[in-house]
Amino acid sequence: MAYEADPRIPFPYSATPTACRAEPELFAYEHGDSNSDDITIRVDQATTACAACPLAPRCLKWALANPDLTQTGIWAATTPRQRCTLRQRLIDRLGPDWVAIVAEHDRRRSGRPTPRVLTAPDGDAPEAVPAASSA
Ligand code: SF4
Repeated sequence: MAYEADPRIPFPYSATPTACRAEPELFAYEHGDSNSDDITIRVDQATTACAACPLAPRCLKWALANPDLTQTGIWAATTPRQRCTLRQRLIDRLGPDWVAIVAEHDRRRSGRPTPRVLTAPDGDAPEAVPAASSA
């Protein structure tokens, strides 16, 4: 099944290749992977690379907003289990639609227009439409 990224939290763009793009195998990780020295060393290397990455704060936000796309792997120095914990904290603090609250906060800080969210009449998932492109 193909999952769509939540359009409210765009993935941060970088013209400079990030470590995860340059060496994606370093960031491969699944819950239940053994605690072998090899994996521990690799995860340490990935989290160290993330710690030095200028995209890390926005990468983490995107990873948390897109659980279906980030079920595996190291994203912004977090494991899948750590992201589950962080998501639950956001839900506890901001409610189940925490992504909308965070996206609106980001929009206000950036001065971007508010996207209109359309709900299909057949009950399909809502679709965000940038205000500038609305008719
Ligand atoms: S913070 Fe995100 S974009 Fe940067 S190296 Fe880590 S996983 Fe890649």
